[in-house]
Amino acid sequence: MATAKKATVKQKGTQAYKMFDPKKAGVPDHLCPIATDLIVMKTGEWRAERPVVDRTKCVKCGTCWAFCPTQCIVEKPRWFEADMAICKGCGICAVECPHGAITMVTERE
Ligand code: SF4
Ligand code: SF4
Repeated sequence: MATAKKATVKQKGTQAYKMFDPKKAGVPDHLCPIATDLIVMKTGEWRAERPVVDRTKCVKCGTCWAFCPTQCIVEKPRWFEADMAICKGCGICAVECPHGAITMVTERE
């Protein structure tokens, strides 16, 4: 009786990518691991507009922090504002701020 040989497929030219492990990378539970992993990209370099926070209107509700896709909103003593090295100028924070405290202004060259 013939025995079937087990087929092994060797894939050439393929590469296995390691899954990102937030715990090994020391990412706190409350942060988006993908955005945190990509934060080394310095997305602020391609910004065309910047968010400007009116400190008299900001009530520190944290909505901008929750919606910012690059997780670049930082807490100041009495307001929140964006880290300009990372902020890519998407304007989501300005749209989502429930107090109208954020205005997008054009970057100068
Ligand atoms: S969403 Fe607006 S009011 Fe709330 S923390 Fe951000 S800037 Fe301040
Ligand atoms: S514009 Fe606002 S939401 Fe967009 S990256 Fe900058 S801080 Fe985050």
